[in-house]
Amino acid sequence: CGIVGYVGKDNAKDVIVDGLKRLEYRGYDSAGIALLLENKIFVYKKRGKIRNLEIDLRKKQVFSSTGIGHTRWATHGEPNDENAHPHLSCDGKIAIVHNGIIENYSDLRKELLKKGHKFLSDTDTEVIVHLIEEEFKTAESFLGAFFKGLKKLRGSFAVAVITLHEPETIFVARKDSPLVIGLGDGENFVASDVPAFLPYTNRVVFLDDFEAAVIKSDSVSIFDFAGVKKEKKEVTIPWSI
Ligand code: GLU
Repeated sequence: CGIVGYVGKDNAKDVIVDGLKRLEYRGYDSAGIALLLENKIFVYKKRGKIRNLEIDLRKKQVFSSTGIGHTRWATHGEPNDENAHPHLSCDGKIAIVHNGIIENYSDLRKELLKKGHKFLSDTDTEVIVHLIEEEFKTAESFLGAFFKGLKKLRGSFAVAVITLHEPETIFVARKDSPLVIGLGDGENFVASDVPAFLPYTNRVVFLDDFEAAVIKSDSVSIFDFAGVKKEKKEVTIPWSI
């Protein structure tokens, strides 16, 4: 139900947990985080309160400049640790968080199972990350695989993806579910709603349906789903919100 992503100079873990707390008002049953480390993606996710996630994470010595977080309001699959987001690809090199509902997930899942993919959750979301993993086998770039995967989805989605294939980068896209990018100084943010990152920046770009973005610490590029670059207006949010 809530997405937060961060890439920049601070510890992504702290910024993301902080952002998730600011999205608590949206309601949720589980929370989780994925951080891009040198050789792997660290994932920690749990049913229940963000507060518990935060306490557990304090004990983990992880520093990363890049990560994504999620609060889940279950639609497909009961609220439990396995179904909590983020979800990983089979090879563990891609992680995704998703808000919304993938209407054709059952067909996609069947096709992916035939191709040898193994699923660890009952969510509709997990098919997206396997789909991108599958497309990446033949795509010319990770971004190309991301677009190819997105085009096969029916339903609603706001997604944020990190991958070992593209360090210090967050890939995001939306259709019928909100997503806003926060522009910082040597750091950038993404979230379902502005309050998530408002303590850090009030310069934002609202994504529209069928728009995607590649977010790095020093750049944000926006595309349509055909991969064509777009210029978007930056908006300044009054701090008093
Ligand atoms: N449909 C997804 C799930 O059930 C995402 C739910 C959400 O938006 O939090 O896991």
